[in-house]
Amino acid sequence: MENCIFCKIIMGEIPSRKVYEDKDSVAFLDIHPANPGHTLVMPKKHAENIFDADDELLGRVIVAAKVISKKIKESLNADGINVIQNNGRHAGQIVNHIHFHIIPRFANDTVIISYPQIKMEDKDFEEIQKKLIESERKVQKNWEMDLM
Ligand code: AMP
Ligand code: ZN
Repeated sequence: MENCIFCKIIMGEIPSRKVYEDKDSVAFLDIHPANPGHTLVMPKKHAENIFDADDELLGRVIVAAKVISKKIKESLNADGINVIQNNGRHAGQIVNHIHFHIIPRFANDTVIISYPQIKMEDKDFEEIQKKLIESERKVQKNWEMDLM
């Protein structure tokens, strides 16, 4: 994709510190790491976000993310790993080429990953649950139609 910085990195037009590559996926160090070893894993083929990425490709990328997470944990002696993936500007996505952040965590590091804990009444939970179940039923129906 033209004007995509990660596509340019993948095509070798912009340098990066690559740490992993297979047929479908690539991973390189984040230029502004939260901790040493902060890595970005992504498909080589451009997709903007989780909504438009091909299912099978996404599956292979998440397996690559698992392999890389294990490597990082072992080789950098991380105490834990955060896997983060942002979709859309309001969710913090800056680069519109889908990618997973693999962030090694250490016992006394300074990384803050935070979100509030909002108050919701029982009826609000129920309403949300209903909406989600209803949309899942629609997906299921479409899926059943595909099989016919
Ligand atoms: P996101 O906010 O999820 O879109 O994250 C984009 C990430 O890409 C940020 O953490 C940036 O530091 C990182 N980034 C941007 N440009 C580069 C680059 N040229 N090489 C490596 N990482 C980059
Ligand atoms: Zn791209």
